Parts: sequence; structure tokens; C-alpha cells
Amino acid sequence: MNIPMKTSNAASNTVGQALARMQSRGLDRLDAQLLLLHILDKPANQRGWLLAHDSDLLPPEHAAYLEPLVQRRLAGEPLAYLTGHKEFFGLDLRVDARVLVPRPDTETLVNWALETLNGQQRALDLGTGSGAIALALKASRPTLDIHATDTSASALAVAQTNAQRLKLDISFYQGAWFAALPEPCEPFDCIVANPPYIAELDPHLAALKFEPAQALSSGADGLADSRQIISEAPKYLTPGGWLLLEHGYDQAQAVRRLLTKAGFASVRSRQDLAGVERCSGGLLNPTPKP
Ligand code: GLN
Repeated sequence: MNIPMKTSNAASNTVGQALARMQSRGLDRLDAQLLLLHILDKPANQRGWLLAHDSDLLPPEHAAYLEPLVQRRLAGEPLAYLTGHKEFFGLDLRVDARVLVPRPDTETLVNWALETLNGQQRALDLGTGSGAIALALKASRPTLDIHATDTSASALAVAQTNAQRLKLDISFYQGAWFAALPEPCEPFDCIVANPPYIAELDPHLAALKFEPAQALSSGADGLADSRQIISEAPKYLTPGGWLLLEHGYDQAQAVRRLLTKAGFASVRSRQDLAGVERCSGGLLNPTPKP
């Protein structure tokens, strides 16, 4: 959206006043700044511009664009759906209500996967959503052969758009977890997933009502999808290959137990930015020769 700035001193609605008004209605300072930059067609890293232009007048029609976005944000809609962008692992991703908004905590999973992968190895991102993990892996290590699935055709459309815009080559497949893959399927050196992991009756879901429910909740204990992925993954991993999963703040022990029960070795967890055990994984032991 590109609205020309006025330099005349007509009835005043300056950048500073618009920001103050949004904050007095309950918006965070950062959200107010990012919404105004969006309306002015300026990138999110231009917050300094707002300070430097604090007393510039906004064109009167800006309110017509800004007001509905302010109302949607106040109603709890994620900022990323309003601006249509989310930064993840240094990539500018397009996002909308068809996909979960990528969270910074998921960067832990990307870093871990990159540590286990090298050369032209194959990696799989199950339930890719916006494509965040798959794209971050490919952007960081272009020689990797990256595959990604999602059960939602509309989520895959978002991921594909992101891959095209970022010129990153990913093989996408639609379907539920491993069922999406073509048969026969060459094994992967690393499988990553940020599956839905919130318990169906968890009150936290109310705060996430704008995001796709199927990307968030998973059975009575939140672990139904993780259980399925862990039990099927050994068939799709190379010997020594890693399975890495994101999970809820209180699920690390349960996920480690599931991994150990399924025969994974070197089972361990990693913390997110807040110091919470947020990802767990293990490697598939080479089968001893008879
Ligand atoms: N981390 C997200 C949240 O709790 C949930 C993501 C997921 O279920 N995979 O807001």
C-alpha cells in the first residue's frame, strides 16, 4: 500500500499522534509502529524512520486503511496476518490465515537440524505450513536436498509461493505426515517437524483462535501427531539419521520417552530462546549386521 505523504500543514494527524492514539487504544508500541510502517509501504526495519518523521503529517485517507487493521489487532489477530509478512531465520516469509505464524522458538529446531546435516544430504520437513523450516534449511545450506509435506493444500500453496519468491528449490508433497511421500521413497538423513502439539481442551487455544486449528491441537494430550511421527519415522530414516521434533513447554520428557520406546538413540532435548525444553530428538541406530 503506498499512500503519498503530505507536507502541507492541514488538519493535524502526524506520525507521532497516530502512534500515540493507537497505543492509547491498547496496541503495543511495536505493533503500532509496524502497522503504520505497513500502511506507509515501508519495511519493518524502518522503525527509525517513524522517529525521524514524528511530526510529518499523514494523509487523511491513511485512517481508512489503518483503522480496520487496528481493530483486527485489538481483537487478537496476529500482526503477521495483518501485514502479510513474518521474518523467520532471516527470511521474509509471506503468511496468512492458511498457515501457522512461524515462531522464533522454532529456529532452535532449524539450528539443530543444520548441525546434523552436511553436503547433499536429504532432509524432510513434515507439516511445513508456510515452509518456514524447509526454506530456512535450504537458504542456509543450498546443497541440501529438501523435501516438505503438509496435509493442507492451502498451506502448501503458501509454502510454494514462499519458495518461488525466495528462489529456493524444495520438493513439496500433500498428505498426512509420511503418507504424503511417494512410494518407494529414498530415506532421509534428517526429519524435522513442528507438529500440532496443544491438547484439544487446553485453554491456551482460545488465544490462538485466528490460526488454523489443525496446525495447533493434537488429541487429548497434544501428543497424538508426535506419537504417529515418532512411530513411523524409523522406516524413512537412513541409519544414523536424526528425527527432531518441536513440542510443548511441558512435553519434553514425554517425547523423549516416546523416542526411546521407538528405538531411537542419543535421545536429548534442546531449549528455546526462553530456556524452555522445546525440541527433542534422537538418531536411528545402524541396525547391527546379523
Ligand atoms: N508454539 C505454538 C504456540 O504455542 C504452537 C505451535 C504448534 O502447535 N506446533 O503458540
